[in-house]
Amino acid sequence: MSLSAQIRMALRRGAAEASQYTGLTAQIALRSSPSWKILMYHRITTPQEAGYVLQPGMYVRPKTFERHAAFLAQSHNVVALDELVEMISSGEPVPSRTVALTFDDGWLDNYTHAFPVLRKHKLPATVFLATAFVGSSETLWTDQVARALDLLRKDGEVVRFSQDIKDHENMPSLVVSPINRLVDRPSNQAVGQSVQEVISALQSIAPQQRKETIAALIKLAERRVDLNTERSFINWDEAREMAAEGIRFGCHTHNHLRLTELSSEDMLEEVEFSKQKILSQELKPSKVFCYPEGAWNVETQRVLASDGWKFALGVGKQADLSAEPKLLPRVGIHDDITQTPGMLNFRIWVY
Ligand SMILES: [Zn+2]
Repeated sequence: MSLSAQIRMALRRGAAEASQYTGLTAQIALRSSPSWKILMYHRITTPQEAGYVLQPGMYVRPKTFERHAAFLAQSHNVVALDELVEMISSGEPVPSRTVALTFDDGWLDNYTHAFPVLRKHKLPATVFLATAFVGSSETLWTDQVARALDLLRKDGEVVRFSQDIKDHENMPSLVVSPINRLVDRPSNQAVGQSVQEVISALQSIAPQQRKETIAALIKLAERRVDLNTERSFINWDEAREMAAEGIRFGCHTHNHLRLTELSSEDMLEEVEFSKQKILSQELKPSKVFCYPEGAWNVETQRVLASDGWKFALGVGKQADLSAEPKLLPRVGIHDDITQTPGMLNFRIWVY
């Protein structure tokens, strides 16, 4: 056989093997992809309405959400999360294209924007509450930081602010660098990216240093701009109104703390207190627990199991159905990647 014939044959063999392989991986992918997904929303708002640049992963615009709801109602089997976990634990087959909708934190816009749309399309959903924030005008540290940085930029104070930070003792360089980049980044998208980098940097450092750094950042920002906010979380009356129309509420701790950074006693207190708080408001909490910032480990799982929890949610694809409690995966839904039904469908089933 000539060399060129040998090469042609080898190429053909390679192509056949490649197509077999592709077929096989597609089958594996289909087999391992469950017929159900849990969608994770946070806020239903716009940066304009919120008044500051939001982390891209944190919001879906009301108009996009309306499209999502219409599409899901028409083409999916939307069930309540507690109904889905019943099916999973009983071993009952879950119908194809089943989704459960979840909203983390209990933002006020879940009541003003999401609730009317959910009601219109008769879609069930579960909202995970960090109960200390219900009805208060406090907000999560992540949003305090985002808001401070955006206001500083708008008020033209960011140059002096970044100098203050440079002069500040013990400010981690991981945090300083993205703030410095805000000085010459005018577009909203670029600001969003810097804000995200600052928050990720803060999440990556030790808890005590994070606490001190956030306090220092806020103190420095408060000298320059007014950080007082209006209420951004739902209150208990709104929660009860939603519950009467098929919205369930679940535990997301009391103070929205990363459980992995607490002692076992404090973990249990955060979880139990939030459950009791929901019960005391005549609401029936979901059987599923939701980890703040998706932070879990062997010890958090042990504490939840000892407290009787059978299911827990993280923030991503990571899942372990043999764990106790069962750790369920979620698909993060945010505006920039789900603006059309096709994009949403891709995000849910292909991503
Ligand atoms: Zn959260």
